[in-house]
Amino acid sequence: MARITLDNLRHSYQAAPKRDEDYALQQVDIEWQDGGAYALLGPSGCGKTTLLNIISGLLNPTQGRILFDDVDVTRHAADQRNIAQVFQFPVIYDTMTVRQNLEFPLRNRNVEPSIINQRVAEIADMLDLTDTLDTRASGLTADGKQKISLGRGLVRSDVNVIMFDEPLTVIDPHLKWVLRSKLKELHQRIGTTMIYVTHDQTEALTFADQVVVMYEGRVVQTGTPVELFERPQHTFVGHFIGSPGMNLLPCSIDAGQVLFEGIPIRTCNSPPRDAVKGETQIGVRPEFVYFSQTGLPVEVSRVDDVGRYRIVEVAHGAHRMKMLVSGEQAIPQMSPKVDFNPEFTTLYADGWAVR
Ligand code: ADP
Ligand code: MG
Repeated sequence: MARITLDNLRHSYQAAPKRDEDYALQQVDIEWQDGGAYALLGPSGCGKTTLLNIISGLLNPTQGRILFDDVDVTRHAADQRNIAQVFQFPVIYDTMTVRQNLEFPLRNRNVEPSIINQRVAEIADMLDLTDTLDTRASGLTADGKQKISLGRGLVRSDVNVIMFDEPLTVIDPHLKWVLRSKLKELHQRIGTTMIYVTHDQTEALTFADQVVVMYEGRVVQTGTPVELFERPQHTFVGHFIGSPGMNLLPCSIDAGQVLFEGIPIRTCNSPPRDAVKGETQIGVRPEFVYFSQTGLPVEVSRVDDVGRYRIVEVAHGAHRMKMLVSGEQAIPQMSPKVDFNPEFTTLYADGWAVR
């Protein structure tokens, strides 16, 4: 196992990249501690797979270094890095049985037969593959095949890191739940560093202690699920995480005061320390908007009852925002007004939380 450092990484698939847009990874610096459970979360195309392939050695970065503990492995071949990688779609040997598939990574490394048997039995049990161990892998459903892929990733006990690239894409929703909690359990038991790549916030937040959020080839924030929820450092984190995502309202700044449509709004980071440049916005999650006697006048434009609470959409002029209202709370009929909890209201400039 190892601490993993990604230092000043950039990657372009083009031969002669010039502008930032030519890079699939624009700039990545990450330090992953030994034994952590990490998620890499971001929309399709933001560079997650590129990053994993650079870590595993399938791809050489255009710039930067990869360190395992203090050893620079940037020029090491994939098979020298001692990594297990599970891909989005099953990678298995169709002509082999399930057992032979699971044994393969161990046989390759001349592990003792008794240990092979024991590991394969453990992994098969965890993934519910015990009954199919001696059938040919080709006969299995897509689910079953992907479980073999997962098993092959998990069967070795001597790897530096196990990386999963959207491993549950082809798995049906119920089984997804089961496998996700099993992976989490397994991490707690074996303590190997795990990096779990997904575009699904629920998967990321339930699996990981630390979530790395990526957007357009960069890391926009690393934090615990609570930090990402309460303290989004970038508007992308605000709207990508949470359901519904964070409200964003245009604002201006006058003498250190944040103004929305001329109305002063208190934020956790105002007045700003320095002059603010760029496009400014106020971000506040629907959880931190509430009806009040004295706040911003609004009109209620829509109410959706989602069971435990209602999602209420209100508008101030042309600006719409969403708020969560619990079942007991009444929605004011006459001239409703809303306030924001200033502790969880943030001023952003060009997408980044202002200091
Ligand atoms: P993700 O895994 O987050 O969906 P990828 O790492 O696959 O993102 O892709 C990041 C960017 O790099 C995308 O714009 C994608 O089109 C581009 N890309 C990925 N693989 C290649 C490739 N082999 N050749 C050229 N461009 C690629
Ligand atoms: Mg991908």
